[in-house]
Amino acid sequence: MATTTFTKKSLGLETTEPALTPPPAKDGQTNFAKKPKLGSAKSKKRDIPEGLWTKCPKCETMVFDKELDENLKVCPKCEHHFPIGARERIHSLVETCTFEEMDAEMTSVDPLKFVDKTPYPKRVQEHQTVTNLKDAVLTGISKIGGHRVALGVMDFSFIAASLGSVVGEKLTRLIERATEKELPVIIISTSGGARMQEGMLSLMQMAKTSAALAYHAQRRLPYISVLTHPTTAGVMASYASLGDLILAEPGAMIGFAGPRVIKDTTQAELPPGFQTAEFLLDHGLIDAIVPRKEMKQRFIEYLDFLHNRQKIATAALA
Ligand SMILES: [Zn+2]
Repeated sequence: MATTTFTKKSLGLETTEPALTPPPAKDGQTNFAKKPKLGSAKSKKRDIPEGLWTKCPKCETMVFDKELDENLKVCPKCEHHFPIGARERIHSLVETCTFEEMDAEMTSVDPLKFVDKTPYPKRVQEHQTVTNLKDAVLTGISKIGGHRVALGVMDFSFIAASLGSVVGEKLTRLIERATEKELPVIIISTSGGARMQEGMLSLMQMAKTSAALAYHAQRRLPYISVLTHPTTAGVMASYASLGDLILAEPGAMIGFAGPRVIKDTTQAELPPGFQTAEFLLDHGLIDAIVPRKEMKQRFIEYLDFLHNRQKIATAALA
């Protein structure tokens, strides 16, 4: 089976290659020399040339990476939502050049001198180099449609988007700025949970962000929370589940503890589809499932609606 896929793919690669690389090939030899280099990079997935094709985990189609990028990392065949970086997501949502980033340079310290396989500061630094992010969230004020919005977007590629002091502090400052400027808040979450390397300080971020949102709500300002794959544990148990509107991307895994832990603890069979966005929509935890490509338009519609409601409420009080 694997051989068949490889042959098929190589054919595709040959046909598309001229469009991607400068035109060195005068004879077929150059192409042959190049192919093994691509294929042998990782023995584990030797049938997938890295950086060109991605296999969709849902429908198993080989998707050309460029096509996947153009489609906001959504499989064109089955609509499976791949993870997307925070910068790319912001770019897809806000009006061009309107994102004014806040606290861009904030980074973690190592209060517990924590060492697991690698010392914590080294782990942070490695992720900073690979992801080109300082920590797992980007925050800022931007414009979506005609609305100024306080926007926070998490990025799973930075230590599983774990909630540490930096994520908590950046989001809290964002929410506080929104309260002060009377802006709606939108937070797009993804997370594996609390950042264990920061111990108790990491757990404190749950209370801190929730308290900031409570002050924001007191001012009757809207907060839209978006849950993307996966949003779990401490993040789900704090700001991610506190939205006035809670949206999710299709197929996202959403929960507190993992299914295996729940099954072992309760000694009960879990219902099919447990902890998916679709299951939670049926059971009332989330308000709508919104495909990534429709997210911006939905934000505009919801904000229009909420803004009008707010104006009516203010008029009624006056
Ligand atoms: Zn697919």
